[in-house]
Amino acid sequence: MPIATTNPATGKVERTFDALSEEEIDRRLELAATAFGSYRLTGLDERAGWMRAAADLLDGDADRIAAVMTTEMGKTITAARAEAHKCAKALRYYAEHAAGFLADRPADAEAVGARRAYVRYQPLGPVLAVMPWNFPLWQVVRFAAPGLMAGNVGLLKHASNVPQTALYLQELFERAGFPEGAFQTLLIRSGEVERVLRDPRVRAATLTGSEPAGRSVAAIAGDEVKPTVLELGGSDPFVVMPSADVEAAAEAAATSRCLNNGQSCISAKRFIVDEAVADAFEERFVACMAGRRVGDPMDEATDVGPLASEQGRADVEEFVADALGRGARLLCGGERPPGDGWYYPPTVVADVTPEMKMFNQEVFGPVASLFRVRGVSAAVELANATGFGLGSNAWTEDPGERERFARELDAGQVFINGMTTSFPELPFGGVKRSGYGRELSEQGIHAFCNAKTVWES
Ligand code: NDP
Repeated sequence: MPIATTNPATGKVERTFDALSEEEIDRRLELAATAFGSYRLTGLDERAGWMRAAADLLDGDADRIAAVMTTEMGKTITAARAEAHKCAKALRYYAEHAAGFLADRPADAEAVGARRAYVRYQPLGPVLAVMPWNFPLWQVVRFAAPGLMAGNVGLLKHASNVPQTALYLQELFERAGFPEGAFQTLLIRSGEVERVLRDPRVRAATLTGSEPAGRSVAAIAGDEVKPTVLELGGSDPFVVMPSADVEAAAEAAATSRCLNNGQSCISAKRFIVDEAVADAFEERFVACMAGRRVGDPMDEATDVGPLASEQGRADVEEFVADALGRGARLLCGGERPPGDGWYYPPTVVADVTPEMKMFNQEVFGPVASLFRVRGVSAAVELANATGFGLGSNAWTEDPGERERFARELDAGQVFINGMTTSFPELPFGGVKRSGYGRELSEQGIHAFCNAKTVWES
């Protein structure tokens, strides 16, 4: 993949960038290692001050960086601006809470025959973050805010199609006052990741993206005995039971499926509806999907912009063609509009069966699979019938059903009567092939700490 900004709304290459040379990569790794030596000794108050400064700068830059993101990967300008402010909030959250999360944890000294025993949280060192283009600021901030507060230094290998956003992130942390080398963007191709990850100066890695990328990074890190957090894909279920507010569920369903032009790991992708309310849900849901305004992502009124890449759209088209070829029913969308740009309309496909690819693979575009089931057991069984386990959604007013969904949905998060979203206050991550480890909240900062046992007699 060339490192370049290619506008998905036009298909035109706007800027290209050279990848770092071998010598430059080595220089940056050395800088990271040196910077870690002194950065780890800075105080939490000082780090929090820089973090708050970064948040203020980001709020101030929101319009400018939003336009860059929209140009690089096609998300709507309103969504891009919201992403920038959400990131500023997360930076402030860690500035405020890191001291509490990282405070020594006293243990029962008497039980272990000590005068004093406790756990101390210490940084690991330079952490490599391999990040995707879909939320080009948020995915990075999710790692950088806790990582920097913990005293780690960051090395970002961002997706090749968002180089300007990647460079902005380094510039942001430098302007905020973080020492040189505390956060560096490495413009490198994915083929260089192995060399960086195997370097002894790099101590851990985090990756958000596709399963093949995750598997590769985890295998190399395993070989090097370096810890990893993986946040991979999802095919989240969205269950609607008879007691649900069907109207609200249908609207949330369309919002979730069209989130980020349909390119979010936690978008609901499989809609599993009890027969008792299936007709009503289907009618409202299809109307909501078909009513979304597709168009120029720079236009404030647009709901759904283009997909991020030509290949991404071709993949989505192939999923739909495969399902329709095997007997699925198209309820809306399904056809690319004429003209430039990698647009694809909100699409609903019914009668999806296990032999269709979209039954158990992730469709990264605004395409919904609709299923009908009878009863809560059948709903749970179908919801869990993929290899993924990232988010999940269930709509019901029945307390017994709520408990069953919370207990039985095999996923990293269960949202009842709402759509899955990420908050700094709550852990985020998956089970099964959606990955392992947690980002955000206290878990997210501890993920890249040495939880050191200290025992004193
Ligand atoms: P990738 O997983 O290929 O890209 C994510 C990041 O990983 C990028 O920085 C990429 O670099 C890097 N990368 C890719 N392959 C390797 C590798 N073998 N070793 C190390 N790093 C690697 O995602 P794509 O953009 O290609 O999207 C493909 C599919 O992945 C989507 O259709 C979707 O299903 C899923 N995906 C899921 C996301 C999520 O949020 N869970 C986000 C994005 C994608 P480079 O750009 O240089 O290739």
